[in-house]
Formats: sequence, structure tokens, C-alpha cells
Amino acid sequence: MKFGGTSVADIERIRNVARHVKREVDAGHEVAVVVSAMAGATNQLVAWCREASVLHDAREYDAVVASGEQVTSGLLAIALQAIGVTARSWQGWQLPIITSGAHASARILGVNGSELLKRMRECREVPVISGFQGINKDTGRITTLGRGGSDTSAVAIAAAIEADRCDIYTDVDGVYTTDPRVVPKARRLDRIAFEEMLELASQGAKVLQVRSVELGMVHQVRIFVRSSFDPPDKIDAHKNNPPGTLICDEEELVEQQVVTGIAFSKDEAQISIRAVQDKPGVAAAIFGPLADANINVDMIVQNVSADGATTDLTFTVPAADFERAKETIASAKSQIGYMRLDGATEVTKVSVIGVGMRSHAGVAAKAFRSLAERGINIRAITTSEIKFSVLIDAVYTELAVRTLHTLYGLDKS
Ligand code: ADP
Ligand code: ASP
Ligand code: MG
Repeated sequence: MKFGGTSVADIERIRNVARHVKREVDAGHEVAVVVSAMAGATNQLVAWCREASVLHDAREYDAVVASGEQVTSGLLAIALQAIGVTARSWQGWQLPIITSGAHASARILGVNGSELLKRMRECREVPVISGFQGINKDTGRITTLGRGGSDTSAVAIAAAIEADRCDIYTDVDGVYTTDPRVVPKARRLDRIAFEEMLELASQGAKVLQVRSVELGMVHQVRIFVRSSFDPPDKIDAHKNNPPGTLICDEEELVEQQVVTGIAFSKDEAQISIRAVQDKPGVAAAIFGPLADANINVDMIVQNVSADGATTDLTFTVPAADFERAKETIASAKSQIGYMRLDGATEVTKVSVIGVGMRSHAGVAAKAFRSLAERGINIRAITTSEIKFSVLIDAVYTELAVRTLHTLYGLDKS
């Protein structure tokens, strides 16, 4: 059972979480719990690091931001004990949860779940584990898994203890066809395939951290997204169908629609290089230095040159890397050879996702027509087997998402 920040935002909500846990324990289940920091706590800790120094040591950043989850794991253990459930808190390093050394975005390399299992079995003790954090074994330093990383902690622990299911309790009662806060007509999905959830998450739906879905897929953990605001005492822990969304293998999907969901991301920036030399080696001269600078390039559009000499090339990078990307290109200008560098940050990438696209033609064409009818200009397009994305002006984000949501029949009736 994993509880996100809003679900543990204050003591009353932590008590509510404790009642959810007690319900499962009383039903005879062996449960391990993972918690996030209280809502807003991580943002505050990040802000303090920046205030202390803009260019801070990532190892110390981790020491600071990991503390939010330490608070909630202790508090939940106390709340559980108070209602008669045997419980204790665990920090990442105590299990340990071993990670890579990439501070602030570390990857889990291994989780030792043996002590947890032993205590769950022998003493019926509920472990309450701090999400988001681990330890780099080589240096002994605390690491964190990137924003939203408690989801990944939960799935990794579920895999390590061979749990039947990993329940992710959050502030919505499942995964929706798009962000329900933006589109009120969004519909809850009963099931979604791992591949689709992976695309939704990577294209901007922050309901689950991308890495948690990857881990679930690889280790075959059944992930169930549900709400912590459903009254704990009204749920029958023996019944297997509380409201929520099961993330599962494609074969387990009951009804298959062509489009499953729509995601959007405002954290994009566009860079266009005008009048680039159209000759072999130019793409390498542009994207090599960007790769060396650790900048992720997403969409790439290159025109076929009309005059045989020069062309335009457009690509997107994370908004946070925009300035750095422009500087990187500018400093390689003599090797690349171009006339002008243009950029835009007020852009959004809207992505339409569904495994049904594999076997249906013309899915994207429909969207292009419909966006054109609304006067929304498309700056760039990418497609893959089960997804296509368009880059548009940010002001049209909501209009575009709502238009496509209706177009593909996703609106709730
Ligand atoms: P937690 O603190 O529990 O980890 P998050 O804020 O990280 O919660 O994730 C839940 C939020 O994700 C929801 O409140 C919702 O606004 C947002 N969200 C974005 N896309 C979706 C989607 N397709 N389905 C459900 N929620 C979504
Ligand atoms: N508290 C961390 C964050 O806000 C991890 C999480 O909530 O999943 O990113
Ligand atoms: Mg989250």
C-alpha cells in the first residue's frame, strides 16, 4: 500500500491512512506500506536548497529532500500503533534499498525485503517504509529517485516481497482518460495496459512515476491505482473490486478501444535552426554536443532542402534545459554552419495513446483535421507504434486536449 503526499498531508489524513492499513490487516492480509512526504513538504525542501545556493551539491540536496519521507513514515507508524496495529518505520538505508549514485534521480538496483517478510510473517508487524529514498552502496550516501519517486519505491518493494498487488493510493480514484483536473469529462479506466500507462506517464500524466510502471512491467507487479479518500471503513477488504484502475498486461484488457488516453506536457521548449547546411554529418554535429551536455532531445523535424544547400531543423528539449541547449548549439555554430537560432518556450506537447493504434490506420489524421478546424497550428509531430504527439502553442493546451478527448469518444456520458 503506497500513500502519496495529499493522502498524508496532515495528522488527520495520516490517521485516515492508518485506518486503511488496519482494514487490510484485519482482513488477514500481510501488508507493507510506503509513504511520500506530506503534500508540499518536498517542494519546500527543494526551495530551501535553491535558496541556500543555486548551484548546490546534489548529495546534500538528497540529504535534505529525503527527510520529508522520514517524517511521514514515523508518524504513520505512531498512528498505526495508536489503533492497535504493530508497526515500525524503515528508512531506505535501513532495508537497504540500493540505488545508483545518480543523486536526485537515482535508479533502484536492488531491495532487500527479507527482514520485512520475516517480521510480517513472524510478528505480524507492518513495515512503514519511507518512499523516494535509497542508499548508494559505494559511498554510503542517501539518494533520492526523482520527483514522484515514491511510486517507484512502492513497486520495487512489492516486487522484492513478491506481493500479490501494489496498491497506489492517491487523490484521484484511478487513472483517467486524461488529467481529470483539466478535463472534467475525463473517464476513469478500469484497466490499462502497462505499455499505455508507460506512454501516458512519460508524456506528462504525473499520476505514476514512469520508472514505477517500467518496474511493474518487468517484474510483473499488478499495480492498482485507487483513492485514499474513499472511506476506509466502507471498503470490504475481502472483495476484489474497489473503485480504481488496474495496470496489467495487454491480454487482460477486456474491451479494447483505439485510443485509451491523452497526456500533455508543458515542460517542453522548441528550438529551430534556420538555414542549416544540408550535408552529411550535420545532424551529428547538432545532436552530438547536446547528448554530451546530457540534454534529452525529444521531437525532431527536418525539412528536405529545396535548394539543395540549406534546410531548417526543429527539435524539442525539456524547458529546464532550454537556455543550456541554445548555448550548446551556439558554441558549436562553426562546426554546424547555420544562419539563425530561434526558440519558443510557450509550447505544449499533446500525446494521444492507445495500443489499438497498432491495428488502425488514420487515427492521427483525424486529430490533425480536428485541430485545424479549431485554428490550432501544429509545430511538430512525432509518431510511434501506440502513440502520436503534436507540439502546439501552450495557450491552446486545454482546447486541444478537450477537442481530442471528444473526438476519440473518451468523454464520459
Ligand atoms: P500523489 O501525491 O498521490 O503521488 P500525484 O499528484 O503525484 O499524487 O498524482 C495524482 C495526480 O495526477 C492527480 O491529482 C491528477 O491531477 C494527476 N493526473 C494527471 N493525469 C492523470 C490521469 N490520466 N489520471 C489520473 N490522474 C492524473
Ligand atoms: N515526495 C517526493 C516528491 O514530491 C516523492 C513522491 O511524492 O513520490 O517528489
Ligand atoms: Mg506522485
